[in-house]
Amino acid sequence: MKSYQHIFFDLDHTLWDFERNSEETIAELYQFLKMDAVGIPSARNLYESFEKANRWAWNQYHLDLIDKESLRINRFQIALSDYGVHDNDLAENMAQHYLYNCPQKKHLLPGSIEILEYLVQKTKLHLISNGFAEITQQKIENTGLKGYFKSVTTPSHSGHKKPQKEMFMYALQKANCSAKDALMIGDDVEADVLGAQRCGIDQVFFNPSKQINVVESTYEIEELNQLRHFL
Ligand SMILES: [Mg+2]
Repeated sequence: MKSYQHIFFDLDHTLWDFERNSEETIAELYQFLKMDAVGIPSARNLYESFEKANRWAWNQYHLDLIDKESLRINRFQIALSDYGVHDNDLAENMAQHYLYNCPQKKHLLPGSIEILEYLVQKTKLHLISNGFAEITQQKIENTGLKGYFKSVTTPSHSGHKKPQKEMFMYALQKANCSAKDALMIGDDVEADVLGAQRCGIDQVFFNPSKQINVVESTYEIEELNQLRHFL
């Protein structure tokens, strides 16, 4: 079995429980900004609209169709528009509340710490995330993840984002590692799996929702703990 000297983890939806942390933040924001008064029936409704808008906005951002500032605000404008609300000041308040509070949340996906404890004994671990640099730092500090990683790469550092080749090349260079010695683990087919594949880096597709035949990857897992089967 091949051994890897360097393992690169994605953060959101791979280690950091984006959905749970995000839903908690949206529920607090719903109360705090009194969003029932503008006609949004429940925090759950708002979260569902936000989740859909956020997924769309990140996808646009990955494809370089929108920039960081548009990503920050558009997802809230779109979520509000589901309820016929067109209020840029409110969207701005939501964005500020969300970006301040969400990175303080501490929920990780099941088995995150256990698998990092296991892997850190055997290999060097790194983080490669398309998140904003300052937000990524807060997330890994607040959850105790920081100490596991020898390097952290975000678009703010590299000037590029996953799935762009330059992002992976930058991370490899920072880790002083060649593509053949590296393994990328992430939940995003385009950004993590295909991005790494195009750079000659082996990939693990983390597929907790058990989607079928999504992508050909070197390995595929449904739970982080399954990394032990081949690492
Ligand atoms: Mg991810």
